[in-house]
Amino acid sequence: MPDRFRAVLITKAGDAQQAELVTLSPGELMPGDVTVAVSHSSLNYKDGLALTGRAPVVRRFPMVPGIDLAGTVEESSNPAFKVGDAVLVNGCGLGETHFGGYAELARVKSEWLVPLPRQFSAADAMAIGTAGYTAMLALVALEHAGIAPDNGPVLVTGASGGVGSAAIVLLAKLGYEVIASTGRTQEAAYLKHLGAREIIAREELSGAPKPLAKERWAGAVDSIGSKTLANVLASTKYGGAVAACGLAQGMDLPTSVAPFILRGVALLGVESVYAPRERRLQAWQRLARDLDREKLRLMTRTIALADVFAAGEDILAGRVRGRLVVDVSR
Ligand code: NDP
Repeated sequence: MPDRFRAVLITKAGDAQQAELVTLSPGELMPGDVTVAVSHSSLNYKDGLALTGRAPVVRRFPMVPGIDLAGTVEESSNPAFKVGDAVLVNGCGLGETHFGGYAELARVKSEWLVPLPRQFSAADAMAIGTAGYTAMLALVALEHAGIAPDNGPVLVTGASGGVGSAAIVLLAKLGYEVIASTGRTQEAAYLKHLGAREIIAREELSGAPKPLAKERWAGAVDSIGSKTLANVLASTKYGGAVAACGLAQGMDLPTSVAPFILRGVALLGVESVYAPRERRLQAWQRLARDLDREKLRLMTRTIALADVFAAGEDILAGRVRGRLVVDVSR
């Protein structure tokens, strides 16, 4: 165990929040039965909110941000995890209520740990991160609602983002016809490479919604919320389903009951942070089976720990394409 290790720390004085790179000692970590030597983390939309303080993601100060981590067990008082085991954590309050992944060491509760699937390196697991794991939860929710490739196309909104890119790759591999909605039509070639069949402009879905519109897709994975989600519901085919996981446009949902009571459309909520352990393990098994790793590399860029401050601004401004892995050793 090192005496000191590098970490990003968010502190608050009055109303002002500050995030900086510091060194901490293991004694400053929060309680937990497993200590992990973190090699990689990732940058999600929520990490951007935490780093910039633009939304109250951090619920305790000081806080080490980073809602994802991957690495090897350094110390464990739970016999189920041995020194050297490769593990990962998504959510579970990391970076919100418990010190997270932007540090070379993390002490966590063993029930949060997912064994790293042998198909993935720690860097791969963080290229997936909360965004990819959430895309898988959304896909499983659509499957449980009976949406299969034969039912018709599936729409992915916020297509160039983390959840969106991962959802396209997963759906396309499983044989779904994917329609990608994006504000960055210049990324059309990238989105087609990931597996999108058709690209539509974000503006088609971001304006004032009607209760019902022409039926266009059997299912959708939506990271956008607000008017976009209302428009997505209005154009979902009879008996279709929409998995809602994000709020990039807003928290509101200005819709009516029309899609539900006249077309039998289902709205499926997707929550990753406190998903039960069984569902997490199942999602990671499915990712190991169904995720095309070449495509994962195509949608991923690696940054150093000190780069997270600028990257946090970039992701909130919609300037990050796909996924950012944080190499914590750099
Ligand atoms: P990203 O920033 O990587 O992706 C979001 C994408 O949404 C952007 O790339 C952009 O795609 C689009 N977008 C951004 N701003 C707007 C806007 N104002 N109107 C319409 N579209 C917009 O974020 P993530 O993929 O990490 O997360 C996406 C959302 O999902 C976030 O709201 C996040 O909080 C939520 N989330 C929720 C989880 C859960 O447990 N429920 C877990 C993970 C994420 P493009 O340029 O292609 O249009």
